[in-house]
Amino acid sequence: MTAADSPWLELAPGHPFGVDNLPYGVFSTPGTAPRVGVRIGDQVLDAGACAEQAGMESGEVWLTPSLNAFLAQGRQAWSAARHWLQEQLTNERRRDCVEQHLLPAESVTLHLPLEVADYVDFYASEQHATNVGRIFRPGAEPLTPNWRHLPIGYHGRAGTVVVSGTDIVRPTGQRKAPEEPAPTFGPSIRLDIEAELGFVVGDATRLGDRVAVDDAGDHLFGAVLLNDWSARDIQAWEYVPLGPFLGKSFATSVSAWVVTMDALEAARVGLPGQDPQPLPYLRGEHPPYGLDVHVEVELNGTVVSRPEYRDLYWSPAQMLAHLSVNGASVRAGDLFGSGTISGRERQTRGSLLELSWNGTEPVTLSDGATRSFLEDGDTVVLHAWAPGPGGVRIGFGEVSGTVVPAR
Ligand code: CA
Repeated sequence: MTAADSPWLELAPGHPFGVDNLPYGVFSTPGTAPRVGVRIGDQVLDAGACAEQAGMESGEVWLTPSLNAFLAQGRQAWSAARHWLQEQLTNERRRDCVEQHLLPAESVTLHLPLEVADYVDFYASEQHATNVGRIFRPGAEPLTPNWRHLPIGYHGRAGTVVVSGTDIVRPTGQRKAPEEPAPTFGPSIRLDIEAELGFVVGDATRLGDRVAVDDAGDHLFGAVLLNDWSARDIQAWEYVPLGPFLGKSFATSVSAWVVTMDALEAARVGLPGQDPQPLPYLRGEHPPYGLDVHVEVELNGTVVSRPEYRDLYWSPAQMLAHLSVNGASVRAGDLFGSGTISGRERQTRGSLLELSWNGTEPVTLSDGATRSFLEDGDTVVLHAWAPGPGGVRIGFGEVSGTVVPAR
């Protein structure tokens, strides 16, 4: 299906929000309550209102202020909804009804699309883990002995996940450089970004059950762009031995549109290769797949990096299987990040820590300014797209954030 199948939508050819995409978000207009919307071209479909008028009862979940009720319904409902939406948007007989519920995208306010239940962040890029190992543990083996055996992750703070456009207050905390005799306290002086994808989970499991790697697709609803803001000075001092804590938990930004896994089917690619072979619970019957998602990191208007998601070592299905293998239940609204997406080339590194190699090789912006870490007033925007069917692009939109001074 292509945009040409719906001439009345008047979508520009190759529009990143064509009928093959249809990402979900939560929007409001002045004086109305937040509710679920579907992005189509430069417009937003008021999905619940359209469903109500069409007599589609299951569309009631779209009249709520988050995607969670819809996420709870599971794979069959998600697929049925996608078919229904594509039919509404391409069938000339549905045009009158649909057109009443389309709003210009620039006229709506976008909200956090889900009430985040639990938030986990993985560390699935071999190159990122290697770079960070070299910077944080010089002289030691950069990859820890467990890294190729399991997708390493930590539990983050669900309550500080914010939607694109939210200002980021510079965090304050404790730090101690190796050469300093004692820790000091104050606003972070090494504020950084991490370019990641986040995966949105639905269809709950019971406590004690686990999601088999081959069943992960029943629970993986979609993906967002995710910026894991990181205070490197706070992180470096606090992370031993229990992992990231306050250096990460002050804010995590996600894009407003959730791109469904269905829309990313044509973007599936093989993984770069896993050696040694992972344990059977991470293998399953079907070969694990990665995603061909192209990410762009923009700092104050200059593109400083173009990470490739396809370089990641662990697949989203393996990450979900691993995070539930101990019987930890999942629920609608769970979110897990992939970890920073970094490749071998400098211009594919997904954090300033790596791009500036811990401040020794500052990044030069188009106005001549240089950055090793973020300054107050800096704006970071991540964009991404993936290939769709028939050569179309599946757009993720953007996740943006501006750093404001510590309070
Ligand atoms: Ca991260």
